[in-house]
Amino acid sequence: MKLEKFSFGIGDRFGRQGKAQLAAIIKAKQQGLNITPVWNKSNREHTIIGTTPQDTRREADDAVSASAWTDPYFVDADHIGLNNVDAFIESSDFFTLDVADFIGHSAQKSDIQAFIEKHKKFIGSLAIPGIDATFEITEQQVQAIAAKCLLAIKEAGKIYRHIESAKGSGSFITEVSMDETDQPQTPVEMLFILAAIAEEGIPARTIAPKFTGRFNKGVDYVGDVQKFAKEFEADVAVVAFAANEFDLPKDLKLSVHSGSDKFSIYGPTAGTLKKFDAGLHLKTAGTTWLEELIGLAMAGGEGLEIAREVYAVAVSRIDELCTPYATVIDIDIAGLPAPEAVDQWDADAFASALRHDQSCQRYDLNLRQLLHIAYKIAAEMGPRYFDALDKYADIIAQNVTDNIYERHIKPLFM
Ligand SMILES: [Zn+2]
Repeated sequence: MKLEKFSFGIGDRFGRQGKAQLAAIIKAKQQGLNITPVWNKSNREHTIIGTTPQDTRREADDAVSASAWTDPYFVDADHIGLNNVDAFIESSDFFTLDVADFIGHSAQKSDIQAFIEKHKKFIGSLAIPGIDATFEITEQQVQAIAAKCLLAIKEAGKIYRHIESAKGSGSFITEVSMDETDQPQTPVEMLFILAAIAEEGIPARTIAPKFTGRFNKGVDYVGDVQKFAKEFEADVAVVAFAANEFDLPKDLKLSVHSGSDKFSIYGPTAGTLKKFDAGLHLKTAGTTWLEELIGLAMAGGEGLEIAREVYAVAVSRIDELCTPYATVIDIDIAGLPAPEAVDQWDADAFASALRHDQSCQRYDLNLRQLLHIAYKIAAEMGPRYFDALDKYADIIAQNVTDNIYERHIKPLFM
């Protein structure tokens, strides 16, 4: 199954922007850059909106046939585990095995001991091509990593084999994700996690670690950019090393979740990818819904009304909306504009508060994060919201395509 060196997680809350998203990837292709589109939607999102994995499949297939796209594309069952994978088996051909909940639960002593024995040769000084510094690895360190991660990788193995027995081997792409954990994984941890993944016989094509710093939904990276850059470079080097060293697919690459809008790290990320000639998978689906809202606001009339109303209701139900996203948002509630004030905003004022242009004085980080998690309010509007999407389809599509192409694909891959 061909996954290009660069692949892009698209998809959107309501499944209406598949074509506009694919248009950005087609634009890149016209410039000579091949990117594999992957429509992803997590179980959490399906549950909040009331959609099914079949809806995501339909969105992808419709967009592909309407745009006459003949290159590969995939539908990603994002963040699934054994308890919810079955609903995704038929419609998906990319599976993100989420084992974050199992990290930190200790594996059996005998398994840990066997793992250490098997990887004795890495204990001591380890030089990894492409990184200047050498890693000093102790037996205690390997023991601690195995205790922390081995059980989680065994769980990933169970999920993988469950999918494999239903779909057949080689008929889907596998990702292993650990991004929704408390602590970032170090490059050395990644090395041993990849060793364990290979031993479990999981042909992982992408791996999503938790990186240092905060990847809040829909807004820029929060953290030390230089520290991130150093860690990312080491991660890329470790992935290349592990793909050679262990029985893993040779095109194994990193996957960055909540990857949209992290503008301050795109520069160093692009530099490292170039230096190592490495690939990347970037998941971005969430922010397309904000482009819908921007388009609606820009359209004025009923569109602007809907945008203001979503905001007002979101403010009144803020606790309920924040709960499922508590670890990936940072909203200063006192800093939010009052709904009464927002009701007076014109189309341009609303759109420029929401659009992610940090050079714009009106850009509002708090409002943007709140609206990012407020898609449930639009879902509740039902036909009124969907009719507006149809009515203002052109201006929305323009925003969706530009956002992906200009603000994401260009700085990262071109
Ligand atoms: Zn994730």
